[in-house]
Parts: sequence; C-alpha cells; structure tokens
Amino acid sequence: MKRAYNFNAGPSALPLEVLQEAQAEFLNFADTGMSIIEMSHRSKEYDALHAETKALMKELMEIPDDYEVMFIQGGGSLQFFMTAANFNTKKHAAYVNTGVWSKKAMAEAKVYGEAYEAASSADKNHSYIPQEINILPETSFVHLTSNNTIYGTEYQTFPEFDVPVICDMSSDILSRKVDVSKFDLIYAGAQKNLAPAGVVVVIAKKAFIETANTNLPTMLKYKTFLDNDSLYNTPPVFCIYMINKTLKWIKAQGGVEAIAKNNQAKAKLIYDVIDNSNGFYKGHAEPGSRSLMNITFNLATPEMEKDFVAKGKAAGFVGIGGHRLVGGCRASTYNAVPMEACAALAEFMKEYQKANQ
Ligand SMILES: *Cc1c(COP(=O)(O)O)cnc(C)c1O
Repeated sequence: MKRAYNFNAGPSALPLEVLQEAQAEFLNFADTGMSIIEMSHRSKEYDALHAETKALMKELMEIPDDYEVMFIQGGGSLQFFMTAANFNTKKHAAYVNTGVWSKKAMAEAKVYGEAYEAASSADKNHSYIPQEINILPETSFVHLTSNNTIYGTEYQTFPEFDVPVICDMSSDILSRKVDVSKFDLIYAGAQKNLAPAGVVVVIAKKAFIETANTNLPTMLKYKTFLDNDSLYNTPPVFCIYMINKTLKWIKAQGGVEAIAKNNQAKAKLIYDVIDNSNGFYKGHAEPGSRSLMNITFNLATPEMEKDFVAKGKAAGFVGIGGHRLVGGCRASTYNAVPMEACAALAEFMKEYQKANQ
C-alpha cells in the first residue's frame, strides 16, 4: 500500500501503526466481540481505556498531581468561549494576538465580557512571537497560542506571568517538552497531533477550576468534567481510544523528548532548504520564532506557488498549499509525519528550484 506524503495542517497524519492497530481491532475490542464504538461508556472495558488514557497523558507530559486531564467536545473553537465564560471573573482578560486563532479566541471572549490585546505581532503579518506583553490591573487571565498553525510561528520559551495562564496548544501538544506547572489551563484539539477531530484534551489545575464562574450551563462548566471524570455525558469514545493509541506510540518512540528531537531534525531538513535557496524560497516566520510543526514559506509569485503546489501534488506531496487566508506554502510536520516524508519534500524543493530559477 502506498501512503501519501501527508503534510496536511489539520486533520493531519496519524502514525501508521496507530491506524493499523485500530483497523485490526475495530470489530473486536478487548475480546468483547464488539467494536469500541458499539459499547457503553460505562462498561468496564471502556472505563479501563479511559483511565489509562488519562494516566498516559499525565505520564508523558509530566502533569502534576493537582491537575485534571479532561476530554471535551466542541473543538478548539468551543474552548475559545468556554475558557472566557469560566475564568473571565475579574475586569477583563488579556490576549496575545499571534494570528488567526488567537484573534478568534479574543473575539469569543468579548461575547461574554471584556478582553484586550496585551501584545500583537500583526505589525509584521504575524511573522514573530512578541516579547513585550502588557498585562493591565484586574486581569483575569492571559491567553496564549503556543503554535500558530497558519503563520508558522511558535513560542520557543514561554514568558512568565503573575496572572493565570491559559494556552491553546492545539497544534503542538506533545511535540516537545512543556512545563505544565507554568499553565493554569492548557487545551488542545486532537486533530493535529493526537487523534481524529471530535475531542479536545484539557489539562487544568484543579484549584483553578474551582475559581470559575458557576452561573453557566452544565456542559460549559469545567467543574462538570472535573467532578465526573469527563463522563457526565457520553464522551467521544472513539477519539479517546485513538488518543490512547497515539500516546502509546509516543511512549514507544522514547517519549516526548525523543519525539521533540525527531521533530527538530525533520523541520531542519526543510528549513535548511529554505535558508540555502538564495531567496528562491522565503520563510515567513523570523528564524527565532519558527514553528517545528508548520513550516510556512513563499516563492517569488502566487503563480509560482500554485505551480509548486501542483507539481508537488503530482509528485505525491499532499497539503503543501498555505492556509486559504494567507496563501503561500506550508508543510505541516506533526509528530506522525515521518522523517522520510520530510527528506523527500526537501529533495523535491531542491529539484524544483533547480528546474525553475
Ligand atoms: C486547528 C486549531 C484550532 C481550531 O480547532 P477546531 O477543533 O477546528 O475548533 C484552534 N487553535 C489552533 C492553534 C489550531 O491550530
């Protein structure tokens, strides 16, 4: 079977071993004679899977004991609203605007209360991560987006704050080591680095959850998920099952540190081609803010970019066009994208340059 060189930005590549295992046991999960998607979420088989998935998450991310791992539906986009509805309990919330996703998060926060921009990279078309962040008095929390999927920038280190920190890690969760204790709440939609779309992993300090606004619908309260082990209602069992498999795969690769090292080597293959192309390829992100997950670049003209994407597609490279809002080109090199695919893309880029400069 020929697998595509999959550089899709999301949903994106999952490890082949994970897909094969899911396929092999799809009709018969844990010797029950049923598929995982046909059984009660209150069964002992599902219960074991649920608990194991939370435990793996805690182990791999070294999550402190006073944090809860939760599984919530609605995607990253629901978290934009849910975080603000729960935690914007003071005068206003601070947002660092590093691109489309953080702007959307801030817009959702404004539905329910006041929000302000504490820093922005809009002046240079979101090609960098701002260093100066101005937190005003009476700020409920600051919201960050660790990796900017669309513009291809990523925090290399996280700033320190004396207000609670909420971070959208949808596109770089488990791609590198993160000190969870620096965050009060982390959320990540599964479809970039973990599993199919349909679940968001939320990691939050239990004490922080207790500070939340209580005047909210049941399903919009983190407390509901904390108090009920994310089983207040039917959770997206298949997504959680797939996360479980991906986490085991990460563990088998040597854990997050090994994955991070591999991600660096993968991204370097492509960034090196950009840097050694004498300007034929122009990287969008400033080198100090470059993402290891989404590599964004331009060619001389939009026509040439179109041609590059078309020729790439013919050569087997999927998903190398930029986001519809920004154009250009983008290679998403998430955890499951193999080194071999990145090496092949780097080679293709070199050949394309030779043929077209
Ligand atoms: C993809 C993405 C989202 C949106 O996720 P949905 O699940 O589609 O709502 C939010 N934030 C970031 C950083 C993303 O990459």
